Amino acid sequence: MKTDVIVIGAGAAGLFCAAQAGFRGRNVVVLDHAKRLGGKILMSGGGRCNFTNMYASPENFLSNNPHFCKSALSRYTQWDFIALVNQYDIAHHEKTLGQLFCDDSAKQIVDMLLSECQKANVRVVNRCPVEGIEKTANDFVVNTGNGQYQCESLVVATGGLSMPKLGATPFGYKIAEQFGIPVTPVRAALVPFTLHDEDKEVLSELSGVSIDAAASCNNTQFNESMLFTHRGLSGPAVLQISSFWEPGDTVSFDITPAADFTEKLLALRNSNTNSLLSNVLNEWFPKRFVQTILAVFGIDNKPLKQYNEKQLIAICNRFNDWQVKPNGTEGYRTAEVTLGGVDTDYLSSKTMEAKQVPGLYFIGEVVDVTGWLGGYNFQWAWSSGWVAGQYV
Ligand code: FAD
Repeated sequence: MKTDVIVIGAGAAGLFCAAQAGFRGRNVVVLDHAKRLGGKILMSGGGRCNFTNMYASPENFLSNNPHFCKSALSRYTQWDFIALVNQYDIAHHEKTLGQLFCDDSAKQIVDMLLSECQKANVRVVNRCPVEGIEKTANDFVVNTGNGQYQCESLVVATGGLSMPKLGATPFGYKIAEQFGIPVTPVRAALVPFTLHDEDKEVLSELSGVSIDAAASCNNTQFNESMLFTHRGLSGPAVLQISSFWEPGDTVSFDITPAADFTEKLLALRNSNTNSLLSNVLNEWFPKRFVQTILAVFGIDNKPLKQYNEKQLIAICNRFNDWQVKPNGTEGYRTAEVTLGGVDTDYLSSKTMEAKQVPGLYFIGEVVDVTGWLGGYNFQWAWSSGWVAGQYV
């Protein structure tokens, strides 16, 4: 079958790009091996899809070339996508930090994308594994489990490696390499940390506890919350910092519960209180957490007045800079995204076309552009998909 455009991958970027190209009158087919379309969208944001972020800007993305994402993000912005969501009457709300979620269900976003594709006469074919690509003089030949397709423009929107259960494959990276386009080293990101046995043994008692924390590593800091799990550490602050963490690095957590924590403890001590340190800390933290963290920090639990000023300041410093050395991450099984990907030096930031292979485009997560947690990754899918959709 011969068509103008084939998009491989019916995820966020692929479906959005296909609709844009279809609206331009291009004849478009989207191929995906999954049974269910938009699997990651359906799972995202706890089933409510954090579809964009009101404050999305190039600073929220990691890439070997931090400038690459600027053009696409400025040409199709979060406000453009929000306008589309409003056009479809999808009720949504800001959860925190500019993160927009559907009030009801992520399915509304998938339905919206499929409806756009339908309006643009795009053919979406699922259960269609793409197995190989060949290049002829003017076309691309796409070999699939369901036969052969031929097209002028080929868009690779196969995503990253996270969540293989949802259909993730390295196929996009293989296509890049086949055409001489390098792929930067990839690794799991926005992913929970696992801990060394000795830390795990103590901290797993806290499974389910969440506290506010500022997580820092490699000159980057995120002020959100952290969650203790039976495997290690998770929660927004941990997922965010995981993208900046390299194996062997130590992460510092500032779990100081109040800006005037030290002053308050000193004032209480000076008021000659008989309260135990743990009872004072219970005012700020979950009880279960206090017992464990005092043990982790090796702090004797005594009445406040029995600590001298220096000792209390030293205690506060432990809360200010709790150093944890993760053993690793949970990997692609639970990672939200893949860091790294198709080398942006080989792509046009204006069109997403491969500089040395006319007609071949890469969009979405397969590219070496990775967003922070908070709707940024979908915004990259929409922006890069929209841009390519104007040129294919
Ligand atoms: P994908 O959505 O991964 O789509 C790629 C498609 O390619 C898949 O449908 C796959 O089946 C198909 N494919 C792969 N190989 C082949 C092949 N050989 N043949 C045919 N088809 C193939 N980001 C946010 O911004 N907000 C969130 O709330 C959010 N929540 C998330 C929750 C989870 C659990 C996960 C895993 C990710 C989340 N993300 C979130 C990240 C976001 O989902 C991705 O960055 C985004 O989906 C990437 O879009 P994409 O179109 O590039 O790739």
